[in-house]
Amino acid sequence: MESRKETRQFKTEIQQLLNIIINSLYSHKDIFLRELISNASDAIDKLRFKSQTEPDILGDDAEFKIRIIADKDKNTLEVSDNGIGMSYDEVLENIGTIAKSGTADFLKAIEQSKTREDVLTPELIGQFGVGFYSSFIVAEKVELITRAAGSDKAVRWESTGDGSFGIEETVKDSRGTRVILHLKKTEKDEENFTEEWTIRNIIKKHSDFVAYPVVTDVEKDEPIPEKEQVLDKDNKPVNTTRKVRQEETLNSMKAIWARDKKDVSDEEYKEFYKHLSHDWNDPLTHVHLRLEGTTEYTMLLYIPSKAPFDMFHYERKHGIQLYCKRVFIMESCKELLPEYLRFVKGVVDAPDLNLNVSREILQQDRLVKNIRKNVIKKILELLAGMDKEQYEKFYAEFGSVVKEGLHTDWENKDKIADLLRYKTSKSGDKFISLQDYVSNMKAEQKEIYYITGDNLSTLINSPHLESLKEKDYEVLLMTDPVDEWVTMSLTEYKEKKLRSAEKGELELDKADDKKKDEYTALFDCIKSNLESKIKEVKQSSRLKESLSCLSGDDYDMSAYMEKLLKASGQKAPEVKRVLELNVNHPVLPKIKALFEKDKDSEKLKDYSSLLLDMAVIGEGGKVENPSQFSKMVGELMSEALKV
Ligand code: ADP
Ligand code: MG
Repeated sequence: MESRKETRQFKTEIQQLLNIIINSLYSHKDIFLRELISNASDAIDKLRFKSQTEPDILGDDAEFKIRIIADKDKNTLEVSDNGIGMSYDEVLENIGTIAKSGTADFLKAIEQSKTREDVLTPELIGQFGVGFYSSFIVAEKVELITRAAGSDKAVRWESTGDGSFGIEETVKDSRGTRVILHLKKTEKDEENFTEEWTIRNIIKKHSDFVAYPVVTDVEKDEPIPEKEQVLDKDNKPVNTTRKVRQEETLNSMKAIWARDKKDVSDEEYKEFYKHLSHDWNDPLTHVHLRLEGTTEYTMLLYIPSKAPFDMFHYERKHGIQLYCKRVFIMESCKELLPEYLRFVKGVVDAPDLNLNVSREILQQDRLVKNIRKNVIKKILELLAGMDKEQYEKFYAEFGSVVKEGLHTDWENKDKIADLLRYKTSKSGDKFISLQDYVSNMKAEQKEIYYITGDNLSTLINSPHLESLKEKDYEVLLMTDPVDEWVTMSLTEYKEKKLRSAEKGELELDKADDKKKDEYTALFDCIKSNLESKIKEVKQSSRLKESLSCLSGDDYDMSAYMEKLLKASGQKAPEVKRVLELNVNHPVLPKIKALFEKDKDSEKLKDYSSLLLDMAVIGEGGKVENPSQFSKMVGELMSEALKV
């Protein structure tokens, strides 16, 4: 059979990404080594995990190692591992053709912030995670040779990072991956990555926590045994030492979670976080605990300070690594963390865990369930215990994610509700908690009022709030799309019902029944004029100054929800809304007079649609026929201005 060989183009996104990385990270060149070592370590992790069920897979190559080979003459630097390796198709899939989740979002964010490639901050890139492609910051050509565990075929991939890559079948005498960087020429004063000293420093700084030995051959002076010494004419040895190359491990492999809290410095916690997360920013905070009881385990969990670009991609990796007595079991352990806490990064080490666990068994495992419960508990406590400033930082980044928990984690619903923060009709720029809201409630106020929409100033000026404002009741202004789901899941807080200011009866003042009767006939007429657009016309208890507004029944979809669904391309069921009219507004008695004089007046039709359009505009919506609307207003003005 012919062996496979081809040249392919990078996917556009990848090429774009590559250019950005190369152009903006020149002052952070070092990180390429961290990325390659981390990939090597991941590859060993994967193999190790697989070997628990397939012990034969390791063969006689069971001593895991990551090797760094620098060649000054060739100006190359190699990072090799004896991990799981890749097949031909895996190389195609992992390197070069498929952009990782979030790439598109990342590129969009860059475009939106109008950040040019050359001024893109490393922090921004750090949130994305540059991975394998960071090799191209320092290399003019990257070569990857790999053989998958259990296969006898190997693959060679190479690229100069300018549009295309070549891939072909080849041979390799052992399992694992070699990444060979053909380094760019460096100037005298630039960092040279073939220098032992440079490599040592970078590894100490960025890869010290890697769990496998990162080794390199170093030149050492070795004493020459007396028997082998060459003597000069005075019978003295010519040399007592000789140069030998010796393998040395460059990283300490410290498992800091296994150490006592008081022995770990702040700096070490931060460095370990960066190692785990590939984030450049310091974490916001962490919790490090040993839980003792019938079973014992350790957790070291971090809250990042910035949300990653792929926060809302469901296939993204979770952040908890599972260990058993410092031996890595699996990364991205979803069983330990619910979706709504997916931003948490960290390590859980559970000595009593069965080492032969598979993902399927893990879900059933009682210990795992217990750990999960505690992880949630500790994170919620950590969040609840933050000071105001820190919590606001957290909330700005991850508030929307945490809110999902109201929907999915019934057990902790109350605690999650305590974490919510909103601006209100009274709070100005400040965010308040529901607890604050409840303490601010008026003595006679029974319910918690809220309104949803995408624009704070439209909400705060919404006609729906007029009566509530007059009563001096506070209203939560919910402007996050997720809030629509919040209001569906959270119907009560501290035994107070949450009520939408734009739905149902507000029951503030008993409606004036006498007036109601007076207006029945007119309202029926308006309703029949607007038949296809609304489901009812009624006297409003919400309005004080405005003439009209739209409302829904208790269980109707809110206007904002409808807008969101439409914006996301989903079919929103047509929900007709209720047109509420303010009978205390001076205009209504006049319309009523007109109606009583001439029930068939053409004007009544015009006024009906004006009342509706005004309600739509009042809540920041779009009127169906804007030119018709302005024409009518024009006519009204010219009539009013007649002298
Ligand atoms: P990430 O590590 O975040 O997945 P990278 O760009 O660093 O992203 O690597 C992309 C993928 O390439 C990895 O997920 C892995 O599947 C594969 N890969 C990279 N390096 C190695 C390696 N040394 N051994 C095996 N697979 C590797
Ligand atoms: Mg990687």
